[in-house]
Amino acid sequence: MSKIIASAAIRASHALVQKAEEMLEKAIGEKGKDFVFEFPDTAFYLPMIYAMTAFPVKTLADMKVALSMTREMLHEEPEEKLWKPYLGEALDSGMATLFAEEIILALRYINGLEPATDPETGYVYNGFITDTIQRNLGIALVDGRMPGFAAIIGAAPDEDIAVKIVRELQERNILIFLSGQSKDKNGEVTSVTKQLLRKNVALGWETYIVPLGPDTEHTLYALDWAIRASLIFGGKKPGDYKEHLKYQKDRVFAFAIVLGELDDVKWSTGAGAINMGFPAVCDTDVPVIHPTGVCTYEHVDKEFDHNKIVQKSIEVRGLKVTVEKPPIPVSYGPAFEGERIRKEDMFIEFGGQRSPAFEWVRTKELHEIEDNKVIIIGTDVEERYKKGGVMPMAVVIDVAGRKMQKDFEAIIERKLHHNINEAQGLWHMGQRDIVWMRISNQAYKDGITLEHLGVIHNTMAHHRFKSIVDKVQVTLYVDEKDVLALQDEARKVYKERDHRLAGLTDESVDTFYSCLLCQSFAPSHVCVISPERLGLCGAYNWLDTRAAFEIDPTGGNQPIMKGEALDATRGRWAGVDNYLKSNSAGAVESLNLYTIMDNPMTSCGCFECIVAIIPEANGIMLVQRGHTGMTPAGMKFSTLAGTVGGGAQNPGFMGIGVNFITSRKFLFADGGIKRIVWMTKNLKERLGEDFKKRAEEEGVPDLIDKIADETVAEDSEKLMEFLAGAGHPALEMDPMF
Ligand code: SF4
Ligand code: ZN
Repeated sequence: MSKIIASAAIRASHALVQKAEEMLEKAIGEKGKDFVFEFPDTAFYLPMIYAMTAFPVKTLADMKVALSMTREMLHEEPEEKLWKPYLGEALDSGMATLFAEEIILALRYINGLEPATDPETGYVYNGFITDTIQRNLGIALVDGRMPGFAAIIGAAPDEDIAVKIVRELQERNILIFLSGQSKDKNGEVTSVTKQLLRKNVALGWETYIVPLGPDTEHTLYALDWAIRASLIFGGKKPGDYKEHLKYQKDRVFAFAIVLGELDDVKWSTGAGAINMGFPAVCDTDVPVIHPTGVCTYEHVDKEFDHNKIVQKSIEVRGLKVTVEKPPIPVSYGPAFEGERIRKEDMFIEFGGQRSPAFEWVRTKELHEIEDNKVIIIGTDVEERYKKGGVMPMAVVIDVAGRKMQKDFEAIIERKLHHNINEAQGLWHMGQRDIVWMRISNQAYKDGITLEHLGVIHNTMAHHRFKSIVDKVQVTLYVDEKDVLALQDEARKVYKERDHRLAGLTDESVDTFYSCLLCQSFAPSHVCVISPERLGLCGAYNWLDTRAAFEIDPTGGNQPIMKGEALDATRGRWAGVDNYLKSNSAGAVESLNLYTIMDNPMTSCGCFECIVAIIPEANGIMLVQRGHTGMTPAGMKFSTLAGTVGGGAQNPGFMGIGVNFITSRKFLFADGGIKRIVWMTKNLKERLGEDFKKRAEEEGVPDLIDKIADETVAEDSEKLMEFLAGAGHPALEMDPMF
């Protein structure tokens, strides 16, 4: 690193450590050294310090210990050496900066100053990023929907440039974090967040634009998120800093775009980020910092042309971004999925109880349809569309292909929602005959026509289902009588399909499928997906993975021949064991699909729900991601999740997809749903009728009422009281252990 920069970075590091020390002394004076602190909804204490040193900062006194480490990282004798273990040489002044910033932000939380608020607009920044959000986004990170993260620090020369840069990143599905400030071209100190607010750009997780806070220090929240990926998904041990840093460099595709002049704190924070393998591209005349050691890309680079800065950053970080955009006059991509269209902003709508509407994918013979054609059938279509308001709508999508199968119809149909929703100014909800769509005034002004709905489906069906779709043709019906007549036909087909899926059992097939998508984050994890057990993220069932394999035979879903049944009750097959031996990086030798007690399935980190044993109740509990309350296992979801992920087998604990709970194979060997002694109200409601049906099958029709939830028990004692009072069947069942 250039000498001048290095000294600026080290200068700032000292200043930040000192600032943290002063703030900490003040806080200790006010609250006492035993005052307890945790960031909202995380199991990883102060994540950066924890990942690098394994030291869990829980109190103000612990913060003091962590700060004494930073003195050592700055090659100084700490006043009191509070930390004995050796700190690796990779933990230098850049990392000292990140530690100090983490403590400063923690103290700001204690003082009620985080998440920060913008005094001008009242806008509340995101602040610390919770474990829940991290897990929610887990799959998007691995399936390519979110190929990387950009931290934009500072302000663009003007608002239009800010919008342009952000739109470019959004169109590439790159998650954007905003922090810090700098001068714009008029010399006013501002930030990209403020510039976007002035331009009414929708901010938030849904739109991939997440303002973290107004200062450079707030960039640390993005780094805290990055470092938790190796803890949550990578199964890296706290304190194994070399492994963490390697994981960051290899698997977390992050980079920074620094707009405006750099001050000492920016250089210093940058030094910490570089340490993690994240390069920065600046729009000012900075010295280019070349790669050292194992890195192959520039650490700091410059690009004065704001039209090129996004492309340049992507190249520097070596990101692979493939975007397929239909030929339509608005922006397109998952970052535009989150927009809502309010009534005032709406030009026209279809369905949603306001008019009859449905969507239907049909298989046709190749000669029956014309590829990429859009047919619109109705009276006075153009005049009616121009008037806006409400319109009936049947979207019939005919697909033909040599490898097309009837089973794939539902899978293509499920993507229709995303096809439409990803267009800026188009909104879509529901599916089949409960669909609801809106087109915004702005999108109409931009030139969106009815035909574009068909164009979008045509393009995206080809893109998403390359090898099974040879031809697609879309017909839109907009006269009520046509829509109603066709809807009856479609409903018959929906019913047949549902019966077919419900009839599929693990015994009725000889092939299961693997899902290896999460291996990019959790290298030893394999989801084994059978007809009666879906992937733990809830996003892939057996039919999906089978179709995915047909679509991309070398992709993340591979067939597993079951082979000889070694244990039918516990769900163990020779073929599955063999597959796992060679595909789980040595982590799994043998798997039982139907029990939690013995060689259960591993978890990556993106499970919808956790199953955990409650030994004293002779049963298990279920808690879904996002539940923040205590559970009778004595741990919150976030803590439980910390013990489940990372691709290792953990008897007694398991991550699952919610729909697995009502499968006949759910803990089949352990006694099935009768083992459930506690589950959240939210899950009870979500499972609804399906659970009732299963409970009747099991001969306990009122099982749901015998299962405790957070309203009656959040600890083991209350739970036991409730179960005894309710006469829960688990109390009479064979011991689980
Ligand atoms: Fe990841 Fe399993 Fe979901 Fe595949 S099915 S994306 S491996 S959690
Ligand atoms: Zn996963």
